[in-house]
Amino acid sequence: MQTKIYQNLIGGQWVSAQSGETFLNRNPANIDDVVGEFQSSGEADVDRAVKAARAAYKQWRLFPAPKRGEILYRAGELLLRHKENLARQMTREMGKVLSETRGDVQEAADTAFYMAGEGRRLFGQTTPSELRDKFAMSVRMPVGVCGMITPWNFPMAIPSWKLFPALMCGNTCVIKPAEDTPLSTFNLVEMLLEAGLPEGVVNIVTGYGPEAGAPLVAHPEVDAISFTGSSEVGRIVGQTAAGFFKPCSLEMGGKNAMIVLEDANLDLALDGAVWGSFGTSGQRCTATSRIIVQKSIVGEFTRRLVERAQALRVGDGLNAQVEMGPQINQQQVETSARYTGIAEKEGAQLLTGGKRLSGDGLDKGFFFSPTVFGGVGAGMRIAREEVFGPVVSLIECDSFDQAIGFANGIQYGLSTALYSRNVNLAFKAMRDLEAGITYVNAPTIGAEVHLPFGGVKQTGNGHREGGTGALDFYTSWKAVYVDYSDRLQRAQIDIGE
Ligand code: ADP
Repeated sequence: MQTKIYQNLIGGQWVSAQSGETFLNRNPANIDDVVGEFQSSGEADVDRAVKAARAAYKQWRLFPAPKRGEILYRAGELLLRHKENLARQMTREMGKVLSETRGDVQEAADTAFYMAGEGRRLFGQTTPSELRDKFAMSVRMPVGVCGMITPWNFPMAIPSWKLFPALMCGNTCVIKPAEDTPLSTFNLVEMLLEAGLPEGVVNIVTGYGPEAGAPLVAHPEVDAISFTGSSEVGRIVGQTAAGFFKPCSLEMGGKNAMIVLEDANLDLALDGAVWGSFGTSGQRCTATSRIIVQKSIVGEFTRRLVERAQALRVGDGLNAQVEMGPQINQQQVETSARYTGIAEKEGAQLLTGGKRLSGDGLDKGFFFSPTVFGGVGAGMRIAREEVFGPVVSLIECDSFDQAIGFANGIQYGLSTALYSRNVNLAFKAMRDLEAGITYVNAPTIGAEVHLPFGGVKQTGNGHREGGTGALDFYTSWKAVYVDYSDRLQRAQIDIGE
């Protein structure tokens, strides 16, 4: 079968990159399987897309917000109608198992429905004026043209977190999806077009980060940037945006800790540990990568976790029997192998896994075995640096206070979890864990779209996706004063009347 060529979407037209070059999107479970051919775009293509978004903004910002919401609602319905097909295509390009890609599509639909409802709220505030016969209110205004750069681990959900609130707020968008998973962004935008989104309101430019992502950040007519990806690239994106005083939302790394205390329901904690560590092959920014276990139960917990990791069926995510898919590409599987070496050198004990898998039909994919390290010191690199693979470290602790200290002792602050039946300690953990997300008796993964998503410390730069935080990023506040007194009234001066 001939490979399908996908073009950029600019101003409602499907167009090739000016370079005339393309790149291949391959199935990470089988690199011989080519999912599609996509445009290698550069600065000129980005410029065209930004100009198209700028032109569409003139009308889109005036389109009533409830009507913008209705388009999102219809897109949500279409996502659910085509869920199975979209999930299959996503597993083929990204690798994670079908139950997870179905969840990824569901998350996009959830975001569509949530933001559709916001179209009839988008609340501002009215407040009394300090002066007589004067009316005061604050209203949310769109920001303008928003640039979006997305990663490959949630190929549809993350683009939806950015596109849907931005659109509902009246912005137009240029999105540069990850080069490993562009198809799901196309599929998402197809749903929007079918739902009635006008031409030019969303534009897609595919390509590599430095060639197609960087010019989007640096384009003077892009009013805001939303980025999800690595800390290294996030730093570059943030620095460039700062040069233009552009609002910039950065969502980056994590090294997420699960604390298991001796009074925990151990069966529940193990279920959470396996799902949190090996779901999406550990390639979630909220993945459980450190498990801090109280001394009295560390032996039993370790033994049972290793058994569970060894029992996981690894393979092609399209196969219904498979529980863990491949990593996304050669580089990620090399990173997992490299950190295995680093951890062993530091003195951590490799309890299971630690190697690339081959044979049994796995030779053509990027499969890495579920990996558990024991005897990990909280200061070791394997306990501080993000791997983004199916690699988890067990750290022993003496007490609740020590566990909190270990959990907080890193540069990241995205997600955390506590397993305990002690309500006092649960509330202390909710207060004291330095993270944007804390779960009690649930793993570090599993965010819902109507709650704020993001982290503290070097995980982000203070913005939140999901929840009302998304509205804060994609709108700017305008204060409006209406004086109906028919005379000059001076704030702070004409007082006491
Ligand atoms: P990941 O580990 O998820 O691959 P990256 O940070 O490398 O994380 O990539 C996330 C997104 O950022 C991708 O869409 C990628 O193409 C893009 N990107 C990479 N380098 C740059 C850059 N210099 N400027 C802008 N975007 C970039």
